[in-house]
Amino acid sequence: MLVCIPTIVGSEQVLSPPDGPYTARPTGGQAMSCQTILRTVEFKLYPNKTQAATLEAWLRRCCWLYNRALEQRTKAYRRRRESLSKYDQQVWLTSLRARIPWLAEVPAWFARSALERLDRAYKAFFSRCQAGDKPGYPRFKSADRYRSMEFGERRVFVRNRSIFVPGIGPIRARGNFVISGEQRTMRIIRRATGWYASITLKTSKEIPQHLSFAECGIDVGIESFATLDNGEAIQNPRVFRKAEKKMRAAHRHFSKCQYGSNRREKAKRRLARLHEQVQRQRRGFCHRASRDLVNRFNCIAIESLRIKSLARTRLAKLVNDAAWGFFIYCLIYKAANAGGSVVRVDSRGTSQTCPACGAVARKELSERTHCCKGCGFRCHRDHAAAMVIRQRAFGSVRGAIVGPVASEQAEAMKREVQQLLLRSPRTPSTVEL
Ligand SMILES: [Zn+2]
Repeated sequence: MLVCIPTIVGSEQVLSPPDGPYTARPTGGQAMSCQTILRTVEFKLYPNKTQAATLEAWLRRCCWLYNRALEQRTKAYRRRRESLSKYDQQVWLTSLRARIPWLAEVPAWFARSALERLDRAYKAFFSRCQAGDKPGYPRFKSADRYRSMEFGERRVFVRNRSIFVPGIGPIRARGNFVISGEQRTMRIIRRATGWYASITLKTSKEIPQHLSFAECGIDVGIESFATLDNGEAIQNPRVFRKAEKKMRAAHRHFSKCQYGSNRREKAKRRLARLHEQVQRQRRGFCHRASRDLVNRFNCIAIESLRIKSLARTRLAKLVNDAAWGFFIYCLIYKAANAGGSVVRVDSRGTSQTCPACGAVARKELSERTHCCKGCGFRCHRDHAAAMVIRQRAFGSVRGAIVGPVASEQAEAMKREVQQLLLRSPRTPSTVEL
């Protein structure tokens, strides 16, 4: 139930270049550096009937406000060629709240979050326009698609095993109440399985600086979820595949229900719950797999995949079900928090190269064994790719002793990645989700 996604926001001390013995496993020698991180903790809320009704009403009003604000911006531009900023709209909101009593009932911060959200939508739209994309213009949202509101002021939200929601009071909750750090913001989210509160905490964390490196190359795939360069394979859970039958039945039932009927509403909720379950299972798996890898290795090499374009091919369902993007994201932030690093290498030809002699070994996707004509090296296709990835990142052949000269280059790269991870707070530059 509890999800923690910490992100590094700044560091008090930049990691110094690592030196010392170059061994295969991390040894005890570690220094610490203190970093400020933002992390989010999630609580499941158990509101009573009145509280739930209030939350629902607020969310609908925020949604109404979002749509009106979008309309205002669009009209202002069409009629007067005027671009409204979020500050203009905040002034407008104040006057609106004075005129409309039901809008004034919603705590100001929650209402303001609707305007913030619209502003973000516009910023994303314009930045993508500038980048040469063809993005869609921000759209009106239906009440179904407007699911969260944020309270952006510092408060003590977590009190006595319940969550304090401004304007409502304490709501019974479940989650990990042992939290430390400054409580910054709270987001109330409505999902298919109920209400949730996601609280952002600002804490400082001791991040170890490793003096030695345990490296590993990972090849992600469909046959097995990931293969390590030591030949170990992480099984693909294929969460969606397993739930597909149930899901198909639920979909069929939903589409047969009469439009606007209670049965249809019920079927819709059931379907949404199923989708949420699948998402949770998939994410849980990614969290566990990445945690295990980060605990064992502090330098991880992966290939930079174009997940989005892969997801447009006929393998789409499998690619999406594997959730590589989320896995890589987990891997990067978990490694950054443990003082490790993730190196992304060029993905071109990783599966067409021989890890033993470096020759090109062409094979179709259906050929599952790597067999080099040059040197006769044989192993599983994904295993060979993982070895190539590792070599590209760290320049070492598994099993061979790496001298200080060969490792220099690798260490320079690691340092670079560490610095990159420190500099880019929210979206680690190496992730493409
Ligand atoms: Zn070979």
